[in-house]
Amino acid sequence: MSETLYDVLIIGGGPAGLTAGLYTSRAKLKSLLVERMILGGQVMTTTKVENYPGFPGGIDGPDLMVRFQEHCQEFGLETMTGEVTGLVDKGDEKIVTVDGKEFRTRAVIITTGAEPSKLDVPGEVEFTGRGVSYCATCDGAFFRNVPVAIIGGGDTAAEEALFLCRFASKVYMVHRRDELRATKVLQDRIFANDKIEMVWNSTVEEVVGDNTGVTSLILRNKVDDSQRTLEAVGMFVAVGVTPKAHFLAEILDLNPGGYILTDSDCRTSMPGVFAAGDVRKKILKQIATAVGDGAIAAIVAEKYLDDME
Ligand code: NAP
Repeated sequence: MSETLYDVLIIGGGPAGLTAGLYTSRAKLKSLLVERMILGGQVMTTTKVENYPGFPGGIDGPDLMVRFQEHCQEFGLETMTGEVTGLVDKGDEKIVTVDGKEFRTRAVIITTGAEPSKLDVPGEVEFTGRGVSYCATCDGAFFRNVPVAIIGGGDTAAEEALFLCRFASKVYMVHRRDELRATKVLQDRIFANDKIEMVWNSTVEEVVGDNTGVTSLILRNKVDDSQRTLEAVGMFVAVGVTPKAHFLAEILDLNPGGYILTDSDCRTSMPGVFAAGDVRKKILKQIATAVGDGAIAAIVAEKYLDDME
């Protein structure tokens, strides 16, 4: 068990976590931010962020996140890499287990975010890393001058389809309905791009491949129930996200989708534990709303600590 008693321990280092850390360290609360992988969260795999205010013309996701980190460093936020596996409520103190080691803290802010959902179709797991990917920004460049498919019709699918056009000879956008969920400005760019071909009302039934990787996809048309083979050697899955809160299922109230339930001030069902960003049930998941959540959670945590004294 660590001897240090932190005021606030933040779990997750995306926009919500870094904002919470900025506010708590600036408020001179003894703060520790624990991140499993690299600081920056999902934005690190975003090419261009166009809707975060203050950056006309957009800013690359990693560049934006480096600014967040530098801003936190300015106020001395302590960060560490590790995986949180447990959270125990001891009343005025919480015990957080990171890689088997226990840390003491008076308040916790959970900002673990979400990860890409899977399709759960035959061949998907087998060919992950050999043609199946959940991140076009990470893997798109491996697919030069070959046809690929992007699955999904939301903002992520649209942005990734446009990004893949830099490399692929053709991008099939496979969507289960006949209209996109993505924001209008992205839809306009999709429909204006000659490299992108929409495959409407269709879902993937199977990923087919051999020892070279993916060779094609078997699709099912949901309107006429017909089957089709799509010649694509890459499948990028962008069908939404799953919150990373499973390790808290026994401890906090979650909704059926696995999102942490909070009040409008980011308080969870456990006093002294707050949740912010994409892991929290809310209407809009954007960097701007994650930042807003992180700030609220930090200020409400500070008030909780003040009231304890
Ligand atoms: P999303 O908005 O939930 O869209 C998921 C898409 O995948 C939908 O088109 C959905 O179809 C489809 N889908 C879901 N399950 C499927 C399945 N099993 N098989 C086939 N298709 C399936 O997810 P997202 O695009 O990852 O975005 C997540 C959140 O981040 C959203 O709030 C989004 O606005 C935000 N985001 C914002 C930006 C930005 O502002 N620049 C960029 C990326 C993400 P239906 O439409 O039929 O439901």
